[in-house]
Amino acid sequence: MINITAIPALQDNYIWVIHDGGQAAVVDPGEAAPVLDFLAKNRLELTAILCTHRHHDHIDGIAKLREVYNVPVYGRRHSGNPRIPGNPHITDDLREGDRLKLAAPAVTFGIIEVPGHLDDHIAYLTPGSVFCGDVLFGAGCGRNFEGTPAQLLHSLQRLAQLPDSTQVYCAHEYTAANLRFALACEPGNPAIQQRIEATRRLRDANLPTLPSNIALEKATNPFLRCTRPAIVQTLQQRGLSDTSELGAFTAMRIWKNGFQAA
Ligand code: ZN
Ligand code: FE
Repeated sequence: MINITAIPALQDNYIWVIHDGGQAAVVDPGEAAPVLDFLAKNRLELTAILCTHRHHDHIDGIAKLREVYNVPVYGRRHSGNPRIPGNPHITDDLREGDRLKLAAPAVTFGIIEVPGHLDDHIAYLTPGSVFCGDVLFGAGCGRNFEGTPAQLLHSLQRLAQLPDSTQVYCAHEYTAANLRFALACEPGNPAIQQRIEATRRLRDANLPTLPSNIALEKATNPFLRCTRPAIVQTLQQRGLSDTSELGAFTAMRIWKNGFQAA
């Protein structure tokens, strides 16, 4: 039996632990202490570290974890873009189409490259689950720091094509704030209102709103709904003239950057 648990870390990160009751892999350890606590408390041994991208809140715990557990670190070592740094922690480089087969916990992941937040971003797919770092969030998506909006949109579209029941393991608890933006984009969508209520109940109980699932994201995440007439209409009222999917997506991502700060 494979178990997947969120370890809250830093401000609003989740470090996902995948374990079989004895051996564990962690995804994006931005901090070591909460991981070491979790492993000790649950009598687990760390066997692998998985990285989605090189941001500090996803890698800063790696060095300390490896002082205790000298385990491989999987991820994308460098995007190939000479203008940006690589991820020096990676011991085992992964690329689009690779398969990562862990022995214990016994889990095999398919690797897809999902650029658009950072160039080096990858996602880990296993039947029924995806670990998508900072690309797809609950009701939102990551900022477009590197690459083009078209790349980020394409990455999101690839994730949206996964089966509806796929559990979505994102790296941040941003769902509540994202839903406020989703509602501004699409005030008449009852699924957003329902998700706001469900999210409030979970957060009031100090529980994660994740994993999400692809069906719920397709129903409530404005970044997966760029061609919906209600969203296009909202954006047009804000001055959008290019109503193509990419035009709407780009305008929405820029609007959200300011919306978050407000
Ligand atoms: Zn990031
Ligand atoms: Fe992050």
